[in-house]
Amino acid sequence: MQPLSNKTAKLSDSVIRRMTRISLDCGAINLSQGFPDFDPPKALMDRLAQVAYEGPHQYSPTWGNKNYRDALCKKQTQFLGIPLDSDDNILATCGSTEAMMAALMAITNPGDKIVLFSPFFENYAAQSLLLSTESIYIPLTPPSYDFDPNQLEDAFKQGAKAMILCNPSNPSGKVFTYDELKTIADLAIKYDVYVITDEVYEHIVYEPNKYTYMAALPGMWERTICCSSLSKTYSITGWRLGYVVACKEIVDRCKKMHDFLTVCAPSPLQEAAIAGLSQPLSYYDELRDHYTHMKQIFTDGLRNLNINFTDPQGAYFVMVDISEFSHGDDVQFCEDLAHKVGVGAVPGSSFFKEDVRHLARFHFAKKDETLYAALDRLSSIREKMK
Ligand code: GLN
Repeated sequence: MQPLSNKTAKLSDSVIRRMTRISLDCGAINLSQGFPDFDPPKALMDRLAQVAYEGPHQYSPTWGNKNYRDALCKKQTQFLGIPLDSDDNILATCGSTEAMMAALMAITNPGDKIVLFSPFFENYAAQSLLLSTESIYIPLTPPSYDFDPNQLEDAFKQGAKAMILCNPSNPSGKVFTYDELKTIADLAIKYDVYVITDEVYEHIVYEPNKYTYMAALPGMWERTICCSSLSKTYSITGWRLGYVVACKEIVDRCKKMHDFLTVCAPSPLQEAAIAGLSQPLSYYDELRDHYTHMKQIFTDGLRNLNINFTDPQGAYFVMVDISEFSHGDDVQFCEDLAHKVGVGAVPGSSFFKEDVRHLARFHFAKKDETLYAALDRLSSIREKMK
């Protein structure tokens, strides 16, 4: 038999999703793969029930239903502050994972250099392997997760084609300041680098931190590809509704990729999600307040247990220092934690290029009772993880 592909041989499964399987197998409270255990807004569920009878149930036009793109366009125009055109600047994809893949395929050729901050969301390395691009990693050093602009400039000088910027960052919880983004933008313009932004946590930013859209900085619209989704904003990770927002030239290329990758995003779900996209601005404040509340419960609980962590500025993850319990093996720690303590977390090493093994990522997008139950289980960590 001929060998199967080298690329898929090299690809490992997603550690995040592996931890979900382990958590399910052993009955652990799953704080590994980030998704809520509470309902989406009632308006979305009610609309979904109607759509079940009204349709559509067949393919949408490839780029997305017109009314869905119009609603998305109106909402993003408001937040981005740039007048978008729903035909030219918006592509509906299957989750931001597809949006990122379409964006990378639209921009890169095999061998192109892509700059990433490390720690990074694990999908990017897998996508880079599939596309045969070369990754250049710039450390975001814990616990502050600051970066050195000189290192970024050195990477750009090596002829980078693009950089991937996850803001707010998964897993670190860093929200890049205006000044940091301006530094990146100025370098991107100077060295002619595209910036692909992963913005799925754009509405989960804790006060007093402020969210700045890279695409809105001077000179950045033409070279920024915004990839995001409705998953986190409306608590519908299973609906797989993502999108690309960019200038027409880039969106046209992404459309070609999407056409052959997935044909279209799920059409009944696009229709129902308009109920989310049409929410008043107060919805986004309430979402932030809800996440602030969940963060408070989880981080207060960790403090009470004398467990060290970095307080996130955005997104819904906490990087916890596990040096006291892990004996240098964070992967084994997370497996043991799921089995012995009954809480699922993701080994920090799966996000870092550098050899970092003293961290584990927990998420707190959970009902109060789930978080209290997880903290109750974690209270036995010292006894059970000796
Ligand atoms: N973004 C979420 C996380 O990092 C979900 C990842 C995924 O499985 N798509 O946990």
